[in-house]
Amino acid sequence: MTASFFDGSYGGDNAKIGPATRLECKICWHVYDPAEGDDYWQVPPGTSFAELPPHWSCPNCDGSRKDFMVIKDD
Ligand SMILES: [Zn+2]
Repeated sequence: MTASFFDGSYGGDNAKIGPATRLECKICWHVYDPAEGDDYWQVPPGTSFAELPPHWSCPNCDGSRKDFMVIKDD
Protein backbone atom coordinates (compact mmCIF):
# COMPACT_ATOMS: atom_id res chain seq x y z
CA MET A 1 0.00 0.00 0.00
CA THR A 2 1.42 3.33 -1.01
CA ALA A 3 -0.16 6.60 0.02
CA SER A 4 1.57 9.07 -2.25
CA PHE A 5 0.78 12.54 -3.44
CA PHE A 6 -0.84 12.94 -6.81
CA ASP A 7 1.99 12.46 -9.28
CA GLY A 8 3.82 15.70 -10.00
CA SER A 9 2.45 17.67 -7.10
CA TYR A 10 4.90 19.63 -5.01
CA GLY A 11 3.19 18.97 -1.69
CA GLY A 12 5.83 20.88 0.25
CA ASP A 13 8.56 18.36 -0.59
CA ASN A 14 11.65 20.36 -1.59
CA ALA A 15 13.45 17.15 -2.54
CA LYS A 16 11.29 17.05 -5.66
CA ILE A 17 12.58 20.31 -7.08
CA GLY A 18 15.89 21.78 -8.15
CA PRO A 19 17.21 25.35 -8.33
CA ALA A 20 15.77 25.92 -11.81
CA THR A 21 12.57 23.88 -11.53
CA ARG A 22 9.42 25.70 -12.65
CA LEU A 23 6.12 25.02 -10.94
CA GLU A 24 2.56 25.66 -12.03
CA CYS A 25 -0.41 26.60 -9.85
CA LYS A 26 -3.00 23.85 -10.17
CA ILE A 27 -5.80 26.31 -9.52
CA CYS A 28 -5.09 29.11 -12.03
CA TRP A 29 -2.08 27.72 -13.98
CA HIS A 30 0.17 30.58 -12.97
CA VAL A 31 3.80 29.50 -13.51
CA TYR A 32 6.61 30.32 -11.11
CA ASP A 33 9.92 30.46 -13.00
CA PRO A 34 13.07 30.78 -10.85
CA ALA A 35 14.81 32.57 -13.75
CA GLU A 36 12.25 35.38 -13.51
CA GLY A 37 11.49 35.52 -9.80
CA ASP A 38 8.22 37.13 -8.75
CA ASP A 39 7.48 40.86 -8.99
CA TYR A 40 4.35 40.56 -6.84
CA TRP A 41 6.24 39.27 -3.81
CA GLN A 42 9.45 41.13 -4.79
CA VAL A 43 11.33 37.86 -5.19
CA PRO A 44 14.57 38.44 -7.16
CA PRO A 45 15.39 36.41 -10.30
CA GLY A 46 17.39 33.26 -9.53
CA THR A 47 15.33 32.31 -6.47
CA SER A 48 14.34 28.66 -6.50
CA PHE A 49 10.86 27.61 -5.44
CA ALA A 50 12.33 26.01 -2.30
CA GLU A 51 13.87 29.36 -1.34
CA LEU A 52 10.64 31.35 -1.54
CA PRO A 53 9.61 33.02 1.73
CA PRO A 54 7.25 30.99 3.97
CA HIS A 55 4.39 33.43 3.39
CA TRP A 56 4.64 33.12 -0.37
CA SER A 57 1.44 32.14 -2.15
CA CYS A 58 0.23 32.27 -5.74
CA PRO A 59 0.33 35.95 -6.82
CA ASN A 60 -2.62 35.36 -9.12
CA CYS A 61 -5.12 33.41 -7.01
CA ASP A 62 -3.53 33.37 -3.54
CA GLY A 63 -3.37 29.58 -3.66
CA SER A 64 -1.04 27.69 -1.33
CA ARG A 65 2.47 26.92 -2.54
CA LYS A 66 1.73 23.28 -1.74
CA ASP A 67 -0.85 23.35 -4.52
CA PHE A 68 1.77 23.95 -7.18
CA MET A 69 2.66 21.24 -9.67
CA VAL A 70 6.20 20.45 -10.80
CA ILE A 71 6.72 21.13 -14.51
CA LYS A 72 8.98 18.53 -16.04
CA ASP A 73 11.31 19.68 -18.82
CA ASP A 74 12.01 16.55 -20.77
ZN1 LIG B 1 -2.87 30.37 -8.69
